[in-house]
Amino acid sequence: MSASTIPSRFDLLIRNATLLTADPAAPIVRNASLGVIGDRIAWIGALASDAHAALDLDLAGRVVTPGFVNVHTHSALSMVRGVAADLGFAPSYTKGIPNALDLTPEDSIAMTRLGALEALLAGSTLIGEHFVHVDACVPEIAKLGLRVHASVRLHDVDFRKVADSGRWQFDAALGDGLLERNLALHGAWDGKEDGRVRVQFAAHAADTCSEPFLAKVAQAAQARGAVVNTHLAQSKVEVERVLARTGRTPVQVFDHAGLLNEHLLCGHCIYVEDDDIARMAGAGANVVHIPKCNAASGRLAPTPKIKAAGLNMTLATDTQHADMVELMRWALATARVQVGGVDEDWQPHHVFAMATINGARALGLADEIGSLQVGKKADFVVLDFRRPHLVPAPNPVGTLVHTAMGRDVEMVFVDGRCVVRDGRPTLVNREAVIAEAQATADRLWRNATT
Ligand SMILES: [Zn+2]
Repeated sequence: MSASTIPSRFDLLIRNATLLTADPAAPIVRNASLGVIGDRIAWIGALASDAHAALDLDLAGRVVTPGFVNVHTHSALSMVRGVAADLGFAPSYTKGIPNALDLTPEDSIAMTRLGALEALLAGSTLIGEHFVHVDACVPEIAKLGLRVHASVRLHDVDFRKVADSGRWQFDAALGDGLLERNLALHGAWDGKEDGRVRVQFAAHAADTCSEPFLAKVAQAAQARGAVVNTHLAQSKVEVERVLARTGRTPVQVFDHAGLLNEHLLCGHCIYVEDDDIARMAGAGANVVHIPKCNAASGRLAPTPKIKAAGLNMTLATDTQHADMVELMRWALATARVQVGGVDEDWQPHHVFAMATINGARALGLADEIGSLQVGKKADFVVLDFRRPHLVPAPNPVGTLVHTAMGRDVEMVFVDGRCVVRDGRPTLVNREAVIAEAQATADRLWRNATT
């Protein structure tokens, strides 16, 4: 490009930063300038001498990454943090702790805002949010300024009967009602807030959704070109229950329902057989790796096998602390534990890609977000690398993955708008969000234990 085509006037200009781009063509750019016009990255490179911007930031000592794409969360489960991880599988249905089924829409909003704020402050510019009352929560999450790809939790098993008596019973009216709610959410919110809100179809799991219900979800999602997000082969009990009911593995059930394709995001994938992995790879499905949740409950997804099969692997925090920075080293360490050492297939840049561009690819947004490239949306995170644990950084991707934390995030931009500054949200009152969530959680815990 000739010098005359370099823009000199920007809305936002970043100078002297180290860019970790997640673009293999130029993964690390030092002493870089990045210019934003409107909601897009307009320039990366040397600047014209008269370059200027409304917001002109000298970010010497900082590292700038693409916004993290956290594709699978249930932010309201912040209500059981510090307890649920120690109760084994399906802690939400353990007596004495707050149950998702007892949440009012207002309770869900209060707890979801807390979890989504936590994710944003740790650098997630996009969350995949699926839970009860998500339809009520979407407008409130959107106010934080991050991208939210949401769905009502879709299932036709009656969770109340599961919680009360361990009975697994499908109820078509229950499933149809939830699907209707999600269709209404799609109609009202998909593409809203300048495209920052998208509505998915979150079929909960193969054991909590009957085959006729999965077929309905497939039809609804396909008709709208929407992503389907699910939990797949996340527990032995699920695999056994599904096998007994259908004679198929959960992956085969999704395939049979017409859901196994490039629009499917498969959460966990712990108990997948070689045939399942090959089937998923052949279909172009996406794996959502959730290493911290899995490891906290004593489980590991066979990520070396999944990666070797060529599947697009993304990262998500699910019900755990929504820190994608920390999560990258969980992904790296748990893969190396399985490999039995350090190899070329599992290096910091691989898990960095999982946390950024791979997530974007899974959502069909690889041309829009997930890397720092001219023409893409201006979604990025500024980390303060002047702190003791981040100095020196001869390989800043390695330093980021091995020693950085979400709390090192200083600024977050979404669509070129500053939504976190000095580690604090710019669009909502942090203290008010925390206080409301604390009061809600206090009440939920009081009611759960009495
Ligand atoms: Zn989940």
